[in-house]
Amino acid sequence: MPDYRLGDVIDDFCVKCKRIMNHNLVSLVNGEPAKVRCRTCHSDHDYRREQPPPPKIDAKKQALYDEVLKKVNPDGSGGPAPEPEAPKPPAKGKSKKTST
Ligand SMILES: [Zn+2]
Repeated sequence: MPDYRLGDVIDDFCVKCKRIMNHNLVSLVNGEPAKVRCRTCHSDHDYRREQPPPPKIDAKKQALYDEVLKKVNPDGSGGPAPEPEAPKPPAKGKSKKTST
């Protein structure tokens, strides 16, 4: 485990710069980076382990999407359609012709 110290410069994803930037370590919890400050835009934020934030899901879009789904599947059973039993092709045993 690397020994972090306050003021260390570490890479992290900056939400304002929208990219991985140099950050100053401003807060440590249990020896792990907790908060960092972007050296470019000087904004403080939680250390993200260089991970960009997940895309926000628009609630309105989600509702619209659900609406469309209901129209497609009005029953709303949701269960998988029962598969009709497909007739198996008759297995033709390859009988070797044995000449007697
Ligand atoms: Zn920044």
